[in-house]
Amino acid sequence: MGGGILGLAVARELKARRPGLTVTVLEREPEPGTEQTGHNSGVVHAGIYYEPGSLKARLCVEGAREMYAYCERHGVPHERCGKVIVARTSAELPALDELERRGRANGVAGLRRLDPAGIAELEPHCRGAAGLHSPGTGIVDFAAVARAIAGELREQGVEVATRTPVTGVASGGGRVALRHPGGETRARFAVFCAGSESDRLAEMGGAPSDPRIVPFRGSYLRLRPERRHLVRSMLYPVPDPSLPFLGVHLTRHIGGEVSLGPTALLWPGRRLGSTLAWPGTWRMARRWWRTAAVEARHAVDRRALARAAAAYVPELQPGDFEPWFAGIRAQALGRDGVLVDDFVVHHTQRALHVRNAPSPAATSAFALARLLADRAEPGLD
Ligand SMILES: Cc1cc2nc3c(=O)[nH]c(=O)nc-3n(C[C@H](O)[C@H](O)[C@H](O)COP(=O)(O)OP(=O)(O)OC[C@H]3O[C@@H](n4cnc5c(N)ncnc54)[C@H](O)[C@@H]3O)c2cc1C
Repeated sequence: MGGGILGLAVARELKARRPGLTVTVLEREPEPGTEQTGHNSGVVHAGIYYEPGSLKARLCVEGAREMYAYCERHGVPHERCGKVIVARTSAELPALDELERRGRANGVAGLRRLDPAGIAELEPHCRGAAGLHSPGTGIVDFAAVARAIAGELREQGVEVATRTPVTGVASGGGRVALRHPGGETRARFAVFCAGSESDRLAEMGGAPSDPRIVPFRGSYLRLRPERRHLVRSMLYPVPDPSLPFLGVHLTRHIGGEVSLGPTALLWPGRRLGSTLAWPGTWRMARRWWRTAAVEARHAVDRRALARAAAAYVPELQPGDFEPWFAGIRAQALGRDGVLVDDFVVHHTQRALHVRNAPSPAATSAFALARLLADRAEPGLD
């Protein structure tokens, strides 16, 4: 369930393991891959940031390898353009050291420490006290990957049923039934990869209510074409280790554009009621209100966002940027107010529910799909 990159990768993995299996993907939108999968930075992460031993660390490193291999086999445009994480001042050096330690512990290949001259050699317009170069980080259009998987599935006779919003889940008699406007799909086992709706569907299927999804809007600016030469590959600031998904970065995209973003603004939208009713929302707000204020300023004030980027590319001016697209992160938040960091999967009687699959889940899709298929397989017999 869910025709994002993850749901499609799970269907592909199950079909590869058991060619005789009847697999169906249910997706509410008219096309697959249009939610988070189609609105992100497009970065194939190498696996630097994540706590060694976490699912993110293992599945990102494996997943990036498989993502490149898939793109090569299926002719999906991609590029290993590399990235530089920049410590703007010496105060950020301990955090850069920690990233390097994590990257090496996670088995990220080719990491190299840079001094200011080394940064300038790779990125002539960037300034910093030190840098960490990851040559294996790359770019791809994850929506194009999702379309390629959907095409492959259809060729194998797998139905990718679009415009099919699942509205109810029930299990009994060794089956799980998914209700939708076209009727009901009954299956021996279901894997839910529902992004922004994952908590609601998990609860319907009998999983605990904790954690809840809180949507964070991430908007991007893009560099005007005549200023794109200021960034050759990707430039990232050193993130706050307790909020690693924050920190606007400059990223080259497959189409040649260079983006600045994403911001991170709590964006309840249609989920306003459930977001406000969740105790974790208020606990998070009490803890992070200062950070939230900075993010809100970045989201509404293009100059503030451009100034953040000028801290490591001083030639950048607010007038160099124009508004671009936005994506909504489906981020899980615990009742205790803690943003869930790692990927989370809950098992119910006849289903698996992916409860938290934020970045780098697109990079990790094939590796995460393998883990989900391992856990789903006993339920297929
Ligand atoms: C701003 C931003 C930047 C990011 N940058 C990166 C990056 O650079 N690299 C990276 O690896 N990751 C990145 N990510 C994370 C990445 O996009 C996601 O982790 C990944 O796309 C998750 O895939 P998914 O299939 O779980 O989710 P989605 O793509 O959201 O798919 C979920 C699908 O379920 C469907 N669905 C939901 N409810 C129902 C229902 N009731 N019935 C039927 N269908 C339903 C939705 O329509 C959707 O198609 C970023 C995310 C954002 C938002």
